[in-house]
Amino acid sequence: MTINVSELLAKVPTGLLIGDSWVEASDGGTFDVENPATGETIATLASATSEDALAALDAACAVQAEWARMPARERSNILRRGFELVAERAEEFATLMTLEMGKPLAEARGEVTYGNEFLRWFSEEAVRLYGRYGTTPEGNLRMLTALKPVGPCLLITPWNFPLAMATRKVAPAIAAGCVMVLKPARLTPLTSQYFAQTMLDAGLPAGVLNVVSGASASAISNPIMEDDRLRKVSFTGSTPVGQQLLKKAADKVLRTSMELGGNAPFIVFEDADLDLAIEGAMGAKMRNIGEACTAANRFLVHESVADEFGRRFAARLEEQVLGNGLDEGVTVGPLVEEKARDSVASLVDAAVAEGATVLTGGKAGTGAGYFYEPTVLTGVSTDAAILNEEIFGPVAPIVTFQTEEEALRLANSTEYGLASYVFTQDTSRIFRVSDGLEFGLVGVNSGVISNAAAPFGGVKQSGMGREGGLEGIEEYTSVQYIGIRDPYAG
Ligand code: NAP
Repeated sequence: MTINVSELLAKVPTGLLIGDSWVEASDGGTFDVENPATGETIATLASATSEDALAALDAACAVQAEWARMPARERSNILRRGFELVAERAEEFATLMTLEMGKPLAEARGEVTYGNEFLRWFSEEAVRLYGRYGTTPEGNLRMLTALKPVGPCLLITPWNFPLAMATRKVAPAIAAGCVMVLKPARLTPLTSQYFAQTMLDAGLPAGVLNVVSGASASAISNPIMEDDRLRKVSFTGSTPVGQQLLKKAADKVLRTSMELGGNAPFIVFEDADLDLAIEGAMGAKMRNIGEACTAANRFLVHESVADEFGRRFAARLEEQVLGNGLDEGVTVGPLVEEKARDSVASLVDAAVAEGATVLTGGKAGTGAGYFYEPTVLTGVSTDAAILNEEIFGPVAPIVTFQTEEEALRLANSTEYGLASYVFTQDTSRIFRVSDGLEFGLVGVNSGVISNAAAPFGGVKQSGMGREGGLEGIEEYTSVQYIGIRDPYAG
């Protein structure tokens, strides 16, 4: 299907979704959205003020009680209709994501499938929120537990997966009976705006989901987080911003889910199937142009296979086609903004200045757009900044190791603990190494393991809470225990 870009952009609401309508900002302010492949402005949206943010919270709180009482089957049906509508509009969503974020269209289509699965999964989970029944050990009480919606939520999403990061929060919140205010990333709000309209089209009652895009994140989030009616904040983004939000959340003792940054090790043992390892490396490194919290950030490769791994990985990267993600055949798009491209370039330049060797790539692209060449570095010193910071770009630094203990020590030597990858054919090593890895996610012989049915989340400074799986809906519920005097109690 060929999408007409101007017709598509004309369909995306440009206002703030407050209650039942898309409205202008109270001060008339706007901000621009840019295409990172060309540097051109593609849309101008209303920019929410603090007043607008509170109006969105008002609209949400006004329907919380009624929404929580709606039968779970009806909430489930709305999610299911949302899933079907997103599937019908898949090509539109994919095109929007490529336009505002830069990922190649084929990857954007993949994100629509992945992101939409959260609507389907939580439409199924909505009707399976079970409590418990039992008697106390002393026999004096009957115990009932009920899972209640946690209450009004603030959902803050990043720019790297514009659809999936929204559906991963919105779908379980709907399933659990919570109302919400969604604040999308400034760089990529269009997908969320269109997604919210799609949920209204699917029958979501006005006020349940409100959307406040804007140029100033803190002007939007601060007043909402300072309001006594808010009960939860779910944030996906960088660790420093997550830390600030946690401090703010403490003042009101808010429930929090924090999906923060990562520094994933990708370990290739001497007994690995190298074909699988190269395939896995392509997925773990190149998915989303390396702009993923799960992106392999450090390649730890046994010294006996490091040369072959580096050579074959570099050869695969040289086959990639850099360009505008909307163009046929392009496999690597631009980075999301100029600042992002410059930060990748400075990490590579610093590693090279400290003695690393460039096997392939190592340069920014020329012309309009924020391109960086897929790059492999070897001989990287273990204290290089590139191994200790999120690269968020298509750059693979390789470090060698000699023993399993050394690999584990290097892998865990980070304050982050989100994704990790292990390539080995030895079953006992799989369990041993998984036990030793201080990470919330372990991919074994696979470079991409995210799935709506699986609990996604980190440990250490990568955050707390889980999205997806059975665990994903619990983040939006609180347990109420009801103790009833036992009829046989003395
Ligand atoms: P970011 O700068 O932390 O921004 C994330 C979101 O927070 C955006 O909506 C942003 O709004 C907002 N924000 C920024 N400053 C804020 C403040 N002071 N108060 C309230 N909200 C604020 O992160 P990003 O650059 O968009 O995303 C990349 C980061 O996200 C990486 O660290 C990546 O690892 C992480 N990430 C984690 C996961 C996970 O599941 N663990 C998934 C994806 C991404 P503006 O856009 O308006 O600045």
